Amino acid sequence: MHVIAVLNQKGGSGKTTIATHLARALQLDGGDVLLVDSDPQGSARDWAAAHEEQPVPVVGIDRPIIDRSLKSIGRKDFIVIDGAPQIEELAVSAIKAANFVLIPVQPSPYDVWATSDLVDLVKARIEILDGGLKAAFVISRAIKGTRIGGEITAVLADYGLPVLASRVTQRVIYPTSAATGRTAFEQEPGGEAAQEIRGLVAELKGLLK
Ligand code: ADP
Ligand code: MG
Repeated sequence: MHVIAVLNQKGGSGKTTIATHLARALQLDGGDVLLVDSDPQGSARDWAAAHEEQPVPVVGIDRPIIDRSLKSIGRKDFIVIDGAPQIEELAVSAIKAANFVLIPVQPSPYDVWATSDLVDLVKARIEILDGGLKAAFVISRAIKGTRIGGEITAVLADYGLPVLASRVTQRVIYPTSAATGRTAFEQEPGGEAAQEIRGLVAELKGLLK
């Protein structure tokens, strides 16, 4: 079983967008998947409820007991945790539950700097677990056709966590598909958004091996 926590204390970095798409993509790949909504705002739960025949099972665990709660949930192939903004205890609890922490970060130095506390928490846990936890940044909401700037690349490199080659681009299909509790996979299965998420999943699966 793999537990992938999509975390960033900063709101609007694309956690829920990525977590819902990741969960659906892993499911379409044949995995038994559970999406855990750790945000007290309940965005992933709202997303799930917007589609009557929602194929992705979503549960809310928005108290800092995620690691313990997951132990009582039956075996899944993948559990994806949609992270909460701000609340540090929730992040700590999600990190404890995870074997992979995915940090979506918008391609701006302000957004990268804002992840520094989270990076410290993740690195401390990696050290304790000695190989039991991996983590990576994924550039989120990248503007199509632009390259990420040298300053951002340098700041990211300073943090000492890898940056995935896959990116999630800023595209209207992400919010429009979410409005009806769906994903890019239902709205445009052959489209570029579905394609980039498949790429992200393939890269993640490679790192989880
Ligand atoms: P978080 O969960 O980190 O707060 P969200 O996934 O809710 O971030 O994204 C914040 C807002 O930005 C939402 O309105 C969402 O639809 C939009 N958004 C996120 N990622 C993208 C993207 N790749 N392209 C277009 N809009 C996006
Ligand atoms: Mg969210």
